[in-house]
Amino acid sequence: MLPLLLTAVYGGNAKRPVIRMATEATFPPYEYREGTKIVGIDPDIINEIARRSGYDVIIEDMQFNSVIAAVQTGKVDVGASGITVTPERAKSVNFTMPYAQAGQLLLTHKTSPYRSVADIENHRVGVQMGSTGDIYVTKNIRCKIERYGNSSMVVEALKHKKVDVAVVDSEPAKVYLAKNPDLRKLEEPLVMEYYAFALSKKRTDLLDIFNRALVEMKADGTLEKIFEKHKSHVNSMAEADDGSSWKRFCNALKTNFVSGDRYMFLVKGFLVTLEVSAAAVLLGLILGFIVAVIRCTADQTGNLKTIDFLCKIYLTVIRGTPVVVQLLIIYFVIFGSMNVNKVFVAIVAFGLNSGAYVAEIIRSGIMSIDRGQLEAGRSLGLSYAKTMVLIILPQAFKNVLPALGNEFIVLLKETSVAGYIALEDLTKGGDIIRGQTYNAFMPLAAVALIYLAAVMLLSYLLTILEKRLKKNE
Ligand code: GLN
Repeated sequence: MLPLLLTAVYGGNAKRPVIRMATEATFPPYEYREGTKIVGIDPDIINEIARRSGYDVIIEDMQFNSVIAAVQTGKVDVGASGITVTPERAKSVNFTMPYAQAGQLLLTHKTSPYRSVADIENHRVGVQMGSTGDIYVTKNIRCKIERYGNSSMVVEALKHKKVDVAVVDSEPAKVYLAKNPDLRKLEEPLVMEYYAFALSKKRTDLLDIFNRALVEMKADGTLEKIFEKHKSHVNSMAEADDGSSWKRFCNALKTNFVSGDRYMFLVKGFLVTLEVSAAAVLLGLILGFIVAVIRCTADQTGNLKTIDFLCKIYLTVIRGTPVVVQLLIIYFVIFGSMNVNKVFVAIVAFGLNSGAYVAEIIRSGIMSIDRGQLEAGRSLGLSYAKTMVLIILPQAFKNVLPALGNEFIVLLKETSVAGYIALEDLTKGGDIIRGQTYNAFMPLAAVALIYLAAVMLLSYLLTILEKRLKKNE
């Protein structure tokens, strides 16, 4: 009876429990994007483990240095991201049995003089922030360390000669070398390591399931098949360097935006940026109005002293700290182990932030209205609240519209830090393309142009609104 019922409710596909997996998808062949889909050795293994044990998988893409933190706080169940087993990490997560051997390699230009690890002392070394490469170099090599968000950015920095040497895990390094013929590796590896999946300590039930499935998959050859399948992965995205500069330009356009439907990262990202900005503007306006009115009321009537004090604290804290720090605190601390939607978190963070600025803008607008008007309203028999809403606020709003417009423009661009919580907004969309094509110019130029067009359109709409309001005067 129950199966029948479930079939009726779920259309034959009863919902299965979900394993949430965190990864950093610019780490070929372990995890990378094919079109917008995240594929690779790790997703394949996790999917297979899930299939065998009756789970579904949801993959979340984030910066590598957030993966372990996400597992530790229980935001996700498993980190599968070519994660090296270290005693330090084992204190905060449960590692499964190792499934691959790996190591850290040094990459450099073919023309550079470096031969061994000793040669790179005092030079600029690029590492991926929070990786074992970063940890090793920080501890053992006296050099100038430059930390980047992912390994592909490290290679991009090397290509553009921002660093002299790049430290990258051995398997991705092979892919990067195949794609960049002017790079080479130093023969001697930095360290040898093992990869394992990092499980949340809150999900001890999964440890056994994973280990058993891994043993099974090793015995029946599934693991080997998965490794074989991705071994030959060398992206078809290497830029053709031959031909006229026009042809090179067209090729680069094609590589960055057309191949693998990469333009979709920009389209989807822009929609996220718009969604977050629009909702945050609204939240900011509502908050700003409330705070401004409270502060003015306290100023003019001496009432609401306690709430006014709280508003002052809000304004001081929000305007005194960077928005990106507020965003991170809201995501990692306030919503710590909760599974909240990132778009929601971003809207709350940017809305709260904008509210503080809007409050001060509107307060200045209210203050700019002659006190006589308040008195006139009151002497006509209107209450303080009615005078405020019917007489003062409409005029104040008109006066501060240019300043508010400016705040909206700032907000739209400020949302570009949303990538810090792995939200795929417009800027992050450009980053993902850069991570796949190692081309800095095209994706960044496209992202900049889209922001510019959006801001120009917004300014135009605000001018029209301003003119309309003037006409009605
Ligand atoms: N193996 C490295 C580490 O665990 C880097 C992994 C990665 O970049 N995905 O730190």
